[in-house]
Parts: sequence; structure tokens; C-alpha cells
Amino acid sequence: MRILIAQCTQEISSFNPLESEYADFSITHGEQLLEQRGLNSHLGGALTVFEPRNDVELLWTISARAPSTGPLSSKGWAQLREEILGSILPHVGKVDAIYFALHGAMGAVDEPDPEGSLLEAIRQAFGDLPIIISLDLHGILTDKMLRQIDGVTIYQTYPHVDFADTGARAARLLLDIVDRKLKPVIARVTVPLLARGDECITKTGWYGDVLREGQLMERKGQVLAAGVMIGNPFTDAPELCTQAIVVAESDADFAQQAATHLANRMWAGRQRLVGKLIDVEPAVELAKGMPGTVLFTDAADATSSGASGDSNVLIKALRDGGYKGRVLAQIIDAPAAAAAHQAGVGKTISVTLGGTVDAARFSPMPVNAMVESLSRGRAKIETMGMWMDGGLTAVLTYDNFTIVVLSKPAFLMDRAFYYANGLDPVDFDLVVVKSPHTEFHMYDLWVTKNFNVDAPGSTSANVASLGHTLCARPIYPIEPDTNFVPKPVLYRRAG
Ligand SMILES: [Zn+2]
Repeated sequence: MRILIAQCTQEISSFNPLESEYADFSITHGEQLLEQRGLNSHLGGALTVFEPRNDVELLWTISARAPSTGPLSSKGWAQLREEILGSILPHVGKVDAIYFALHGAMGAVDEPDPEGSLLEAIRQAFGDLPIIISLDLHGILTDKMLRQIDGVTIYQTYPHVDFADTGARAARLLLDIVDRKLKPVIARVTVPLLARGDECITKTGWYGDVLREGQLMERKGQVLAAGVMIGNPFTDAPELCTQAIVVAESDADFAQQAATHLANRMWAGRQRLVGKLIDVEPAVELAKGMPGTVLFTDAADATSSGASGDSNVLIKALRDGGYKGRVLAQIIDAPAAAAAHQAGVGKTISVTLGGTVDAARFSPMPVNAMVESLSRGRAKIETMGMWMDGGLTAVLTYDNFTIVVLSKPAFLMDRAFYYANGLDPVDFDLVVVKSPHTEFHMYDLWVTKNFNVDAPGSTSANVASLGHTLCARPIYPIEPDTNFVPKPVLYRRAG
């Protein structure tokens, strides 16, 4: 059995003015993909299932992965699409099945559904063979994608820790389909809901309880796979929504009932699945009197969700509000990082921080800062063990502030870039994290209080503030009186 393996992952924010480009993608070919062996990644997990099988031969094609920013430029998408299809299509007629690891929240300037476009081209070329995909629960699984695939596995954790597990489940599903010559049915129920907030945390929140119902269906052998995707609220696309997806061997009625049940459960929790935010000024005032370390969660500028990372709103508010504790924060500001590298360690520089990318939301803040340290800006993300590149990086200090200044929007959803620059959050009174959530042990376990601050930004949990133009309306909570009537749609591939 020959299985073709490919990967293409990116998550964008349509509200980030900085377009992403072909050059943002790390692209590897052929057996280079094996470098993911042992990693907590889709392909790392799939390998643990495929490799022990003596009757399976793996055909490695291409992996294209990019950090999250704004939509992919028209030119960038054309080049990426050509390269991906150029790597996959020559194998038509030579493979028995395809595993394509995706994210699901890509978006190009002139293509709202890049994953659907790739899958459609692959299906047209390869004809009737099993195609399995794996997705982030923040992906947008579209009608076009569903028409091309035989099965899908979806993350079951948020904050995400099950990258490899999702890949392993996809690999098992693929082998099951090939071994038993299955023609699965997929039921989909879309829910007009953009979910945010703490109830999305799967260990403790409403969303996790719904996902566990899907896992129970899998364990009981009632379905091949069941999941709920909440979509990335910042990827404005026509089919952006929450959706329940059930893959079953053949029982279409059960699949539709199961998907309807999961969708209804999400809808029942909609009032809890809204981000609870505190305004910036009261958060600063409250932080002043608190012992221990206080966390400011800046979900609106989450680079891992596609934001620009150049928001200075919180460090400005802390300064203007007279906060005197030791503050640790991060910001993307390439000119400031370059100026620090030019000046050198120990020098004082006059620069501005912030507002270099999303100038409509943030205005540059002048500071006289000491260059504490300089680095290339590489850090190993704590969960995935994957290296991220923040570009030229500097640690700047002024007054009571210590700021890690990166040049590129690397993921900031853990402590990696603090540690990599010799800084430990426990040594500070207030830490800013540009991510909606972190794994519990990273901060919530030990901080005095975690404030989810309502700052502006292209990935704000205040979703009504973003200005969606493409996603189907009405949608909750942008339109609070939205109605929901479940309408299951069944996908059964001909052939
Ligand atoms: Zn995600």
C-alpha cells in the first residue's frame, strides 16, 4: 500500500493589514519531511502509526508551514499552490491513498478557501482513492473540502496539545478505510456561532464537554470520527462558523443525528462561549494593589491567531496609569530591534515601540531604552518542540519595563521567547501575554490573577469589534438574537 503524505498549514487573521507571502512558508520536500519524526506534529503522529506497518510505503511530497499573519497575497498563493500541486500531482496513478495534514484557517486575498482549492485539484487528478485530512479545531472546513475527502480528524484539545494525536488518528482512520474498503459518510451541521473565551478551554470548559461526547461515540465504535470545530473567528470567510462533523462507516441517519446532537450542545452553551473581557484602565488600577504576579492576556494581538503583534496599548496604559511594578512584555517591532542591534548591548537608544504594522489601530510610542541583550530571535515553542524565528530580537528596558522586541510575528502563546532571552516571568509583577490562552501550568497555575483585557487588535475576542464582511450572517454573538435550526448535510463520495 502506497500512501502519499503532504502538509500545508497556516492560520490567518483577515483583519491584520500585513499580507503574508510565499517567503513566509517553510517548505520542505520528500524525505526532509521525516524531520518531523518524534515531534508533536500531525506528521510526527501519523508516522507512529504508518511506520510499524510493513505493508505500507510512504511517499513524502511536500510540507509548507507558515506562522500566522494576514491573508496570503494573490501572488504568494499562486506560487504556493503551483509548488504544492507540482509536488503532489506527478504521483497520479502511483498511490493508493492520500493523507494531507492541513490547518483549515488559511485565506488568500483572492481565494477564501485555499485548502478547498488544493483538495479539489488533488481529487480531480487522482480520482477514486481515499483522501484523509487532519485539521485544527480553529479551521474552517468548507463544503468544497468536504466534497473531496473520505474522512477528517480534528484537534480535541485547546490550548492545543494533541497535534501528534490528531495525525495518528488520521493515519488510523486512513488505514481502517483502506483495509476494510470503506466508503464512509460524513455528516455536517453548521452552527451560527463564533465561540471565544474560557469555556473554549477543553479541560474545564463547555466546549471540552461537548468534544468528550464525540470521543465517547468514537470509543463505543458508533462512529469513525466525531468532532466540533469552532473556526478561527478572525479568518473572515463565507463558511466561518462552528460546526459538528461526524464520520461514520455507513449509517447516514446515525451520523446526522450525532452531528445534530453535538451542534445543539454547542448552541445550548452559546452564552458561555463568549469572551469575558475587562476594560484596560480598570485592569491597570486593579493590578496596582495585587501581590504576586499579575497576567494581562492580550488576546487581541495574538500572533498565533494571525495578529500583527505590534500592539503597545497595554504597555502604554500601564505607563500612563502609573503602574510601578516590574512589567514584562513582548512586541513585534522590526525597526526598534534593528536600532538596538545597530547600537549594541549597554547602549541607550531613542526609538518608538509598536504601530509599525497595524498603524490604523496602534500609534508608535517613543521610549528611551537601554539595550539589555541581543539575539537572533530563535526559540523552541514549549508544546510542539518546534523552532520559531522571531528575527533579530532585543531586550529593551526603560523605567519599570522590560520588553522583548522581535522583528517577525513568531508564536507568543507560551513562555518560549521570554526564556530564550534569559527572562523568567516569575521574576516580574506583571506579565503581558499575546495569546488568548496558555497551557494551565505556564501561568494560570501560579499567577495571582489573569485579566483578559479588552484592548483593540485584529484577533480581539470582542468579535463584534472586528468588522466581518464575508462570513454568513446573522451569527452569534455579533447578532445576539440569532436563531439556530440544525440542518444536517450528508457527504457521501461517489465512485
Ligand atoms: Zn488552533
